[in-house]
This record gives sequence, C-alpha cells and structure tokens, in this order.
Amino acid sequence: MKVLTLDFNNISKQLENAKRKNSSRVILTSKQHQINTNLISNNAIHTVTKLVKAGYKAYIVGGCVRDLLLGLKPKDFDVCTNATPEQIIKVFSNANANIIGRRFKIVHIKFSHEIIEVTTFRRDSKKTSGYERKKSSTGMLLVDNAYGNNIQDDAMRRDFTINALYYDVINNEIIDLHHGLYDLMNKKINMIGDATTRYQEDPVRIIRACRFAAKLNFSIEQKTLAAIEPCLPLLKDISHARMFEEVVKLFLSGHGQDSLKIAISINLIPYIFPPLEELYKNSVYQNFLANALHNSDVRVKENKPNLTSFFFAIMLWGAFLTQLQKNQNLLEGDISNHQKQIEPIIKNIILRQNKATLLSEETINKITNIWFTQINLIKIANNIDSIENFYKHKNFRANYDFLVLRTKLEPLMNHIVKIFEPYDAKSLLLTQDKYDKKRKRLDKRLNDRMLVLVKRSLKLHGINLNSKKGSEILKRAEDWRKHLGLDDA
Ligand code: ATP
Ligand code: MG
Repeated sequence: MKVLTLDFNNISKQLENAKRKNSSRVILTSKQHQINTNLISNNAIHTVTKLVKAGYKAYIVGGCVRDLLLGLKPKDFDVCTNATPEQIIKVFSNANANIIGRRFKIVHIKFSHEIIEVTTFRRDSKKTSGYERKKSSTGMLLVDNAYGNNIQDDAMRRDFTINALYYDVINNEIIDLHHGLYDLMNKKINMIGDATTRYQEDPVRIIRACRFAAKLNFSIEQKTLAAIEPCLPLLKDISHARMFEEVVKLFLSGHGQDSLKIAISINLIPYIFPPLEELYKNSVYQNFLANALHNSDVRVKENKPNLTSFFFAIMLWGAFLTQLQKNQNLLEGDISNHQKQIEPIIKNIILRQNKATLLSEETINKITNIWFTQINLIKIANNIDSIENFYKHKNFRANYDFLVLRTKLEPLMNHIVKIFEPYDAKSLLLTQDKYDKKRKRLDKRLNDRMLVLVKRSLKLHGINLNSKKGSEILKRAEDWRKHLGLDDA
C-alpha cells in the first residue's frame, strides 16, 4: 500500500514557480520532505558519512530517493560522490569494497545483508577532452567514465528527472536540479535532456521508462514518449544478457500486467519477444498474457517465487502453439512419436528469442520440459494410472498452473483442468507433508548436535554427566527434544 509522505499541497507553488522560471535548483528541508528516515538504509548513511568525513562530497541518489518521497520501500540504495573509484576503495580499505563494471566503473561496498553501490559523479564530456568516453556509430555510449565535480554534472547523466534527486544526509535536505519533484507531483516520466540522444546513448532507457511508468503508475511525458518508436531498433545492439535482466525486471517485479499494457502501447513487444511477431496484437492473446502476468504480480505480493523459465514459457506459448497448429498431426495420437519433429520447432523459437534475451541452458531445458508436458496432458488425463503418477511429480503444480492459464487461450482445455483439479489439492498436501518431514529431519540433526554440545560443555565445566547436576541438565535437554517431538521423527 502506497503512503505518500511528501505533501505536494504545501510545495506545489514552489515547484510550479521553479518550473516556470526554469530555476536550476529546488531544495526541500526535512520539514518539507518528511522522509521516513526509518526506511533509509543505515549502511547507505554510514557510506555517505564516511566519505564526507574523508573530505569528499557524497549523497544518496536515484530511485531510492524517489521511492522514499513516495513512501515506498526502496529496493536498493545508491550513493554518489566526487571521490574516484580508487579513492573510494581507499576510504573503505577495511571494508569489503570492489570496483566492478567496464562501461561504468562502480564500487560495490558489501555489508552483511546489503550491497551499497557507490558511483563517482559523471559528467557530459562532449566538450571536455582527455576523458574516457566512446560512442558507437548509432550514438550508443560504450565507455563513459568522464568524472564530474559536482551533482550538477552528475544529474545531467541520469536518465529521468525523478531519478535525479539527491538526498544530502548531513543537512537532511533533498536537492532537485531537473524539476524531478515537479514531475513526481504530476506523475510523469520525463527524460533529462534530448530524449532521442539519451535513448541513442543507452536504448535500455526505453525499457526503464516502461518499467517506471508501470511501477509508479505514471505516464510518459510527450517528448520522452515520442522519441521511443524511432529508437526501438537500437535495442538490437544491447547485450542479450543485459536485455534478459531488464525484461525479467520489467515483468517480474510485481507490476507485470501494467508493464505489458505499456510495452504493447509503445510497440516494444517484438523487440523483446521476437517469436511473437504479430501474435501479440491479437486481443485474445493479450488477455491470455495479461491474466498470466496478473498471477505473477499476485505471487510477488505474496512473496512467492516466479520462475523465469515459467515466465518465458508462458510469453512464448502462442508462438509454439501456432507452429504446432500448422501441422495438426503433431497434436494427434501419441506425442512421443512426434518428438523428433517438435524438437526443432522449439529450438527455432528459442533461437529467435535468444536474439533479444539470452536464455541459459537450464532455462531452455525447463521451457522445453514445460511445453512437452503441456502437449502431453490430454493423454495423461485419459489414464488414471498416469494421473496418479503425474500428481506426485515435483513439477505437477507448475504444470497445473500453466494449464489453467492456457484456458484463456484454449477454452477447450477447461475440461482437462476439471480432471486434474482434485489432484491440485492432493499435490499441495503431499508437498506440505514432504516439507514437514524434511524440516523435522533438519531440526533433529540440529538438536542432536546441540545435545553433543551440552555434554561437551558439562565436561568442560568439570560437571560429571552422572552427577545429580549433570543428569538434571541432560534431562532438561532431552525433555526439550521430546517437547519438540524430535525423538519420533
Ligand atoms: P529500482 O527501483 O529498479 O532500483 P532505480 O531508479 O533505483 O530503480 P537503478 O537501476 O537502481 O534504478 O539505478 C539507480 C540510478 O542510477 C537511477 O535512479 C538513475 O539515476 C541511474 N541510472 C540507472 N540506469 C541508468 C541508465 N541506463 N541511464 C542513466 N541513468 C541511469
Ligand atoms: Mg535502485
């Protein structure tokens, strides 16, 4: 549930004036921004404070500030500074700090449960020679390690105005240099600088625009939107591994259904799912995908995992089905007889998908597995022994869920769902039972070890195990085991 901590009523005049006068800076005091400091990572505060103490400038920056202002819990915290990566490493010489990245050098500072990403201020180095900045023929930034001196330089290199807000930890102030607060108030995703140039520099910003619009329920500002379509083909030049990560983040972060709507409206789909060709324009197919993504969104809310293999298997199901339907006999009789003909069909779809997002061998195997099982379900449903075997399989529930989703596209599969429906609950009980037994075994092992430690500690303290005190302590430890029911596990 979103809680808007920032009261725009109090500052709307200030933001509108600043926008009208094109003033370059808006500062919000702690009284105005009312950020819930409990939501700020102590590690991020520690990182900034340590850099400032070492004589550098440092701020918390980016999406985390945006989320804090909207009352959302930030996913991760980023810090920026005028210290170079090498200088950052020196400041954190006692901590676990490493320089990573080639295109952009970044320092990762590892804390026990969190990584704080620290970047050196960037600058637009067009006019500054002697800095490392390489572009491809299409304008894509290949290397961009031109360092800036201050947040003015740095803000220019960030993507959207709402992502260029700086939190000054020492003075407890928000600094806004590109009217990000104004856009936050008006719920707009607005590119800093010329949108076309910025997409050319990094086409992934198209996917990011789509993701933030979905996540925040914002609209994409007119110029930022208009520049997308001509830049879409540039996505083909992005590393397929990076594309995989971005596509997964776009759809599996809890707002997949909204992401789909926006991705369709900006014609992004054929660039991220090439095998879908024209299929994604079909309203029945869109409903099928929307329903599947709605399910994944609910799973995210319930803290349940969403497997990437399941996600790609669903997204591309239509491409597979279309190929099978072109050759009706593949769907008739015993599917195992057609394995040799079906395998190349799957291979071809995966090959085309890999031209956008790189799928691992493991993911490909799982997709293949899901698809083969799905086309076998009618045969399984016709034989009670096969059903009995099938529902005990660890993948039964995933396959059943997939089947239920299919009914949006293939209503005839409803009667197959009916056959498997009672087994869904049975399978759930079975999984629960297996899980309970496993947990008991683990608890028992842990407690056996504890008993050994109790005995060892008694010896260490010179208490005889057979003495009154010793046997009392041992009895208590054993009673505790009985109380946990470990002896009958
Ligand atoms: P999320 O909620 O997904 O973490 P985020 O805005 O924090 O969203 P990150 O990928 O964590 O996104 O990046 C942190 C910040 O770095 C962004 O807010 C933005 O200022 C900057 N940034 C990230 N990627 C880009 C990019 N491709 N181009 C320009 N700036 C970027
Ligand atoms: Mg972030």
